[in-house]
Amino acid sequence: MKKKVVVFSQLDQDILQCLQAQYQVEVINPKLGEVNEQIREQVKDADGMIGAGRLLNESNLATAQQLKIISSVSVGYDNYDLAYLNQKKIWLSNTPHVLTETTADLAFTLLMSAARKVPYLDQWTKQGQWKRTAAEAQFGRDVFAKTLGIIGLGNIGAAVARRGFHGFNMNILYHNRREKLELAQSLNARYCGLDELLQQSDFVVVAVDLNTESKALIGPHEFDQMQPHAVFVNIARGSVVDEQALIDTLKAGKIFAAGLDVYAKEPLQESELFSLDNVVTLPHVGSATAETRKKMAELAYRNLVDALEGRTPAYVVNASFS
Ligand code: NAP
Repeated sequence: MKKKVVVFSQLDQDILQCLQAQYQVEVINPKLGEVNEQIREQVKDADGMIGAGRLLNESNLATAQQLKIISSVSVGYDNYDLAYLNQKKIWLSNTPHVLTETTADLAFTLLMSAARKVPYLDQWTKQGQWKRTAAEAQFGRDVFAKTLGIIGLGNIGAAVARRGFHGFNMNILYHNRREKLELAQSLNARYCGLDELLQQSDFVVVAVDLNTESKALIGPHEFDQMQPHAVFVNIARGSVVDEQALIDTLKAGKIFAAGLDVYAKEPLQESELFSLDNVVTLPHVGSATAETRKKMAELAYRNLVDALEGRTPAYVVNASFS
C-alpha cells in the first residue's frame, strides 16, 4: 500500500505531481472547510506532511497514528510544537541555506527603501506632487559607510552583513547569544551587547530565529536606545518585536524609519502602521522569488521522501530524539 502524505498549504505544482506519482496525497484546502478539522481527519493514517505557515500542535496532530515527518517548506519553525513532536517522535525538517541570499536581498531592499523613502516618493511622484525639486521632507539618509547592527548573525544575518560590508563599506556590529569569532573576523564585525548595538547603529536589522529568549526581544526600552536617525528592519518574526512599541516609536518620530516583512499577527489586515509614512510594510515575502520558492519546495520534498524511505533527511530540526 502506498504511504500517505498530507499537503497542508499551497505547494509547488511540479513537486505536488512528483508526490502524487509516489504516494497517496491529500491536500488540505481552506475552501473545503475548517482547516484544523481537515488536518485532524487526514493525519490519522498519514506517514508524512509537507507545507508551511500553519500552527501544528497537539490540538490538530493528536489523531496521528504513524506520522513520521513534518517537512516544513521554511527555515523558521516556530509554528510547530517541537516538544510535542519530540514526545511523539515525529521528525520536523526545514529548508535552510537555499533561501539565505534571497531573504538577505529583501532585508537590504527594506533597509534601502526605508532609508531613501522609496514607497513614499513613489506615491509622491505618481500623485503629481513633483512640482519642483524634492526638498527636505523628501530627503532620505545615507547608507554608504554607515554603521549596520545585526541582531542574530546567523545565516541570513551574515548574508545581510556581507552586503553591507562588501557592497556599502559599512561598519558592522552584531549581537548574538554567543560570539561568532571566525565569521565576525571575515566581516570585520564587532560583537556588542544589545543596548550598545542599538545605541551605535545607523541601521538595525533583526535576523534572529523566534525562540523563548528572542520573543519580545525588542521593546520600548530597546527602541529608546536607538538614534533618532536610525532605520529599523525586521525580517525575522513579528513576535521578536513589541509591535505597539514600534508603532509608538514611529509615530513619535523617535527613529527615522522602519522596514518590516513580518508582524505579530499575519496576514496583516488592519494596522496603525498603514497610516504611517515612515514605515515600509511588506507581506512576509523574504524568500518569495520564483527561483527560491522552487528550491525550498525541492529541498522539503527531499527531506520528506528521505524520511518516508527510511533515510535520515538532511535537515532535521529535532534529530536528537532519534
Ligand atoms: P540561523 O542561521 O539559525 O540564525 C539565527 C541567529 O539568531 C543565530 O545566529 C542565533 O545565534 C541568533 N539568535 C537566536 N536567538 C537569539 C537571541 N535571543 N538573541 C540574539 N541572537 C539570537 O537562521 P537563519 O537561516 O539566519 O534564519 C533566521 C530567521 O529568519 C528564521 O528562523 C526565520 O524566522 C526568519 N526568516 C524569515 C524570512 C522571511 O520571509 N521574512 C525568511 C527566512 C527566514 P545564537 O544562537 O548564538 O544566539
